[in-house]
Amino acid sequence: MRYISTRGAAPARDFAAVLLAGLAEDGGLFVPESWPHFTAADWRALRALPYAELAARVMQPFVGEALPFAVLQRLCREAYDRFGHPAIVPLIQLDTHRWVQELFHGPTLAFKDLALQLIGRLFDHVLAERGERVMIVGATSGDTGSAAIEACRDRARVDIVILHPRGRTSEVQRRQMTTVRARNVANIAVEGTFDDCQDLVKAMFADAAFRTELHLSAVNSINWARIAAQIPYYVAGALALGGPEREVGFAVPTGNFGNVLAAYAARRMGLPIARLVVGANRNDILARFLASNDMSVRPVEPSLSPSMDIQISSNFERLLFEALDRDAAATRAAMQGFRASGTMKVPDAAWHRIRTLFHGFRLDDAATLAEIRLLAARTGYLADPHSAVGIAAAAALPAGRDVPMIAMATAHPAKFPDAMQQATGTRPPLPSRLADLYEREEQYTVLPNDLAAIQAAIRSFSLRNAA
Ligand SMILES: *Cc1c(COP(=O)(O)O)cnc(C)c1O
Repeated sequence: MRYISTRGAAPARDFAAVLLAGLAEDGGLFVPESWPHFTAADWRALRALPYAELAARVMQPFVGEALPFAVLQRLCREAYDRFGHPAIVPLIQLDTHRWVQELFHGPTLAFKDLALQLIGRLFDHVLAERGERVMIVGATSGDTGSAAIEACRDRARVDIVILHPRGRTSEVQRRQMTTVRARNVANIAVEGTFDDCQDLVKAMFADAAFRTELHLSAVNSINWARIAAQIPYYVAGALALGGPEREVGFAVPTGNFGNVLAAYAARRMGLPIARLVVGANRNDILARFLASNDMSVRPVEPSLSPSMDIQISSNFERLLFEALDRDAAATRAAMQGFRASGTMKVPDAAWHRIRTLFHGFRLDDAATLAEIRLLAARTGYLADPHSAVGIAAAAALPAGRDVPMIAMATAHPAKFPDAMQQATGTRPPLPSRLADLYEREEQYTVLPNDLAAIQAAIRSFSLRNAA
């Protein structure tokens, strides 16, 4: 399997190269040269498998020759071994037509673990084969940092430094990062904002000498391997509810469009998916686009579901490329125009094609709290604010034609205790494996918002680990 860029000006690569590169050098995103296809019999053969085995088989055509299948199987087993539920991605029925699929049983209690636990191991394996090491550097406002740290901890070929704005992340989120005791993990609390942290990371990547010296790398959400690792749970959900003989729909709380794009990929592989509902909070650029073919950027406003507080959904480019019949020049022109003007209207034919599968849905904070409260009262189910958007989105369309809707639950409610208390009056407890989080010792370095000081700290951390 080879991968091409959505902007058409980068050479085709294999899975391992795409994993390490992330973004293509022409600024585009990698997509498979052609979509693998599973027949009904292929899907049926996956039905009775444990999740890790199902994941390896679903990902195998995307990995291709880059890794022996036995290695992929082992890495999947190891990645999902530490999850807190034996089903890994359990399904729970809410009412006649709606289910939730819980994607938050990983080490940091959010869906990003499903991809990142595997990506960390894939990185390690590929780097060991090449005799290389990398230093992952990232900035976080909370959520993504801990998932990346948990993915990289104790990996032999990877060091990781995460910058967070001092005093500006929630306590759960900070502790999930700073209590990880691993030699290859460092946390830096920057005296500044999240934007300052992001600017520092950008400056480090722009510093060619520093980037090369330390082998800087990133594991961001545009990495194709992350999308590939998210396809299996759509397969597991659909098969559990009668697929491939029965169509299902998914409702996905969406930020960068990575999660729902994996559902699209599953459908391109032949999984019978009738509809995809894209859930948004007040930052509703995608819902507006799906309603009226108007993608226009507005300022990001904070909400109760911070991982969806986003205006430019980077993975949307992959869907656009498909909707434009894989016309790379048209995709490049559309994306460059969007970056320059902050607005985009796609050709009518492409928009209609997107609309045959995708629907938008928006829920503001007040309605999100009401949804959490109502759901708890009716079913006893506790949904975090992100998941509540997905669950409400799953009811937004008439069920019709016996299409069960599966809402993706992307975070554990204990990660958002304040919102849960506001909605239900109680704070959900952390799962037992994290119950002592508030007692664990934290380790981090406080540094000023100063590039040279932070580069020096990262360099000495790197030298210590190389020794
Ligand atoms: C990252 C995240 C999302 C958004 O996922 P995308 O792939 O960026 O669309 C939704 N909910 C939670 C809890 C997340 O951490």
